Amino acid sequence: MEEFSTPGKLLGTEEEFAAGDGVYGEDGELHALCTGNAIIDKQKMVSIKASNAVPKMVAPGMVVYGRVEDIFEPIALVKINPVEQGGVRQTQGDYFSVLHVSNIRGDYVQSVRSEVRVGDIIKAVVSEIRRGEVYLDLRNPDCGVVKAYCSRCRSPLYLRDRMLVCHSCGNSEGRKLSKEYSAMER
Ligand SMILES: [Zn+2]
Repeated sequence: MEEFSTPGKLLGTEEEFAAGDGVYGEDGELHALCTGNAIIDKQKMVSIKASNAVPKMVAPGMVVYGRVEDIFEPIALVKINPVEQGGVRQTQGDYFSVLHVSNIRGDYVQSVRSEVRVGDIIKAVVSEIRRGEVYLDLRNPDCGVVKAYCSRCRSPLYLRDRMLVCHSCGNSEGRKLSKEYSAMER
C-alpha cells in the first residue's frame, strides 16, 4: 500500500504499526512528518518515502531562516530557505524541517504554540539530519523568532519589555525571541 501523505496526516496507531522514517508518534497515534508516500512493510512498520530530498548544502551547525508553516504538538513544521554562514541566501527551493518542543529553550517548554506561531519567521541552527529529516534548534540566544504577527489580527508585533504587543488590536503575546527581533517599539 502506498498513500500520498502531507505533514501531520494521521497514519494509524502505535498498536497497529511501528514508526519508521518520516513518522512521529504522539498520544498513541502515528503522523506523517513530511510530504511523500506512506508505505507499510512486512514488519508492520509505517514510513514516509519523502518526496523532497534534503538539500546537499544543509548540514548540522548551519544557520537558517524559516517560516513556521504548521504546528502539530509537540513539533512545528518550518519551511527553510538555507543560507550560507556568511548570510548569502541561496536560491534553492524551500524545504520542510522539524522543530521539536524540547529544542526551543534550555529549560522546560509546555507547548510549541507558547513559543512560536504559524506565520512567524525564525532563525535556527540545524541540529541534526536524521532519517532524511532536518531538525532545528532554537536554544542559542541568537535564535528564535525574528518577526512575529498578531495571532488575532495578523499585524506585525512590536517588542516592549520582552513582550510582543500589537498596535492595531492591543493584543500582547510571548515568543522565544531571537536577539535579532526586528520590530522594536517605536
Ligand atoms: Zn492584533
